[in-house]
Amino acid sequence: MPHPVKVLRTEFITPDVKRFTVERPQGYKFVPGQATDVAIDRPGWTDKLRPFTFTNTTTARHLEFIIKIYGDHDGVTKQLGLMHAGEGLLLHAPFGAITYQGPGFFIAGGAGVTPFVAILRDLHRKKKLKGNTLLVSNHTAMDVILDEEFTRMLGRHFLKVFTRQHVIGFRERRIDRDMLVVLVQNFDQKFYVCGPGAFVNEIGTMLLDLGAKAESLVVEQ
Ligand SMILES: Cc1cc2nc3c(=O)[nH]c(=O)nc-3n(C[C@H](O)[C@H](O)[C@H](O)COP(=O)(O)OP(=O)(O)OC[C@H]3O[C@@H](n4cnc5c(N)ncnc54)[C@H](O)[C@@H]3O)c2cc1C
Repeated sequence: MPHPVKVLRTEFITPDVKRFTVERPQGYKFVPGQATDVAIDRPGWTDKLRPFTFTNTTTARHLEFIIKIYGDHDGVTKQLGLMHAGEGLLLHAPFGAITYQGPGFFIAGGAGVTPFVAILRDLHRKKKLKGNTLLVSNHTAMDVILDEEFTRMLGRHFLKVFTRQHVIGFRERRIDRDMLVVLVQNFDQKFYVCGPGAFVNEIGTMLLDLGAKAESLVVEQ
């Protein structure tokens, strides 16, 4: 049976990414990096399940989701984009996706950063962030999710690339082999990669080619 929960707060944190704070059902547990199927609790929508990742820490009183809204397509995220506090969602059971397996290099494309939000916040809470680096790729600086928080948490171990910035002084390119050589340096570590399918495949192939071990790659599309 799904858990009905009320949306407590919503806010856009980039032009097309919305943060939802929702009630946490009693005893509802998850591991950082896990996701759940979510439906809108409204006639006609309850059977339209879409997976989203918990971004709150495991000890938080409320659950949080960070969701990219596809407004040009009549799907669930378009409706989520129009939702406000007080409306309802249905949450199903948490299921595994990426989980933390030791210090390493996290690489995210766009909203693919969500499992890393949960994992890195959890490590931060436990004062165990050392040895981890986060590299995010976005269209522009405006699209970076939780820029300030990651900067505070990771300092110079938070790296950003922009594919469409068009501003002098910004690194404007896709993540390529040369960039990985310069930024990663040590390929004998864990790599966590999450984002659109093509992004994950391309980066995974480059990392293996540069010497990363297949068993050190933790990937999710
Ligand atoms: C394990 C897991 C965890 C995830 N966690 C998150 C998360 O935390 N945050 C997040 O933002 N996303 C997350 N996602 C992705 C998220 O589930 C999808 O973005 C969401 O399901 C889209 O739902 P939708 O109903 O709006 O689109 P759907 O109707 O389900 O359509 C989605 C697909 O349609 C395609 N599409 C887009 N526009 C059009 C169009 N105009 N016409 C036809 N097709 C189009 C898209 O490429 C996409 O593949 C996660 C996915 C997985 C598998």
